[in-house]
Amino acid sequence: GDYAIDLDTIVIGSGPGGYVAAVHAAELGQKVAVIERYDALGGVCLNVGCIPSKAMIQVSHDYLTAQNSADEGVSVAKVALDFDKVQAFRQSVVDRMSNGVAYLFKKNKIDVIHGTAFMKSDHSLRVINDDSAQTYTFKNLIIATGSHPIEIPGFKFDKQVIDSTGLLSLPTLPKELIVIGGGYIGSELAAAYANFGTHVTILEGTNSILNAYEPDMVKIIEKRFKAKGIDIITNAMAKSASQTDNDVTVSYEVNGEVKTVTADYVAVAVGRKPNTDDLGLNIAGVEVDERGLIKVDGQGRTNLPHIYAIGDIVAGAALAHKASYEGNVAAEAIAGQSSIVDYRAMPAVCYVDPEIATTGLTAAQAKEQGLDVKTAKFPFSANGRAVSMQATEGFVRLVFTADEERIVGAQIIGNNASDMISELTLAIEAGSTVEDIALTIHPHPSLSEAVMDAADVGLGYPTNI
Ligand code: FAD
Repeated sequence: GDYAIDLDTIVIGSGPGGYVAAVHAAELGQKVAVIERYDALGGVCLNVGCIPSKAMIQVSHDYLTAQNSADEGVSVAKVALDFDKVQAFRQSVVDRMSNGVAYLFKKNKIDVIHGTAFMKSDHSLRVINDDSAQTYTFKNLIIATGSHPIEIPGFKFDKQVIDSTGLLSLPTLPKELIVIGGGYIGSELAAAYANFGTHVTILEGTNSILNAYEPDMVKIIEKRFKAKGIDIITNAMAKSASQTDNDVTVSYEVNGEVKTVTADYVAVAVGRKPNTDDLGLNIAGVEVDERGLIKVDGQGRTNLPHIYAIGDIVAGAALAHKASYEGNVAAEAIAGQSSIVDYRAMPAVCYVDPEIATTGLTAAQAKEQGLDVKTAKFPFSANGRAVSMQATEGFVRLVFTADEERIVGAQIIGNNASDMISELTLAIEAGSTVEDIALTIHPHPSLSEAVMDAADVGLGYPTNI
């Protein structure tokens, strides 16, 4: 018979939402179990998302740097790429991170149950794996099942029609690659492969790649992409793919004309869908919206007060740090604390070259919210560290209220923007002013001085260099 096992708090999914929620719930005194359908812990982010993509991007930069440092007096006789080794390196990074999650679970006495969870009622679920099925009851449940790539008509995933996961684990370096979708996932991997020497064509449906970002930043990236030999075709509607044994031909429509392009692979990166269809949420009575996202309050609580949902399966940016943030809040809510989410200072990074990092509001978004804002901008071309790094392209822009000069947003495009954005995220979080940043001593020479210099511009006292 199937005797139910009683548990306190169950977390479904071990991604950056689920594992962080599980660890924090355990830290706050809950007995926690995590259900994960895959052997490897860490979800999309650690296994087939953030981490492996950044490993590939890093290697592609190293490869370029090895080829392009002659003007600094460094020349390498022969730079060669061993793609098997690149893939082995990517996997070693993933394994190390995934093992880190296993270690954290062990340290916090969190049980891992491998199998696929399916709701049986509002207080029980069933976990099915290859050789067993077991029912568990819970007092609290945190659903963190994440998302999967969207498939589009005419492009059924197959040998040569692949998603981002396939693109990260190609067995050999393609000569030609088509990427459908110029969002951040498509653009990051397109650039990495272009750095490796692949000829890449991006088919983008709207009139610009990376259209979540402001045009003055996108322009810099477009220029770089073209310099790498990437063909960017905008307003292109991908229609169908036809495969042979060796290649794939994609037909697409642009300005009413149907054209074709052939490559070794076509990768579809047009967005992701929440993993909420096959969970039996309706059986439990958990409400979802028309996009399949679970409806939650400011503590991550669904319409059922003991069931929480976090990460890619709820509204908002589908980003790892947003999932983790919500995981912490949900764990604290279960512990009876009054924690509540505040998305005002949400960073987002696109790891292209140079990196784009944003936090808070753009000037346009601030105006839409009725805020009277000003902006101040400082270019990396006037930053000594950037000059010494040959990384002078890009800028820091601050968005701040006109009256109190409080920081409400920032955009950075430049090398290491992903690290520099945190100072400004903290500024928003802490309610800091432009003057607070200008008065903060920044190390010289550093890229982060451009943040201070932008603040000086905002105060009307631009630094003389
Ligand atoms: P996931 O990480 O998707 O984890 C969900 C887990 O739940 C999975 O392990 C899944 O197997 C498990 N699961 C699902 N259903 C069940 C079930 N029924 N039973 C048991 N287990 C189940 N974000 C960033 O912030 N920065 C980046 O640089 C970045 N790069 C990315 C690059 C790529 C190529 C991709 C695809 C994504 C990237 N993301 C990035 C997005 C990031 O990966 C996601 O936002 C993040 O993983 C969401 O975390 P999550 O915990 O909600 O879900």
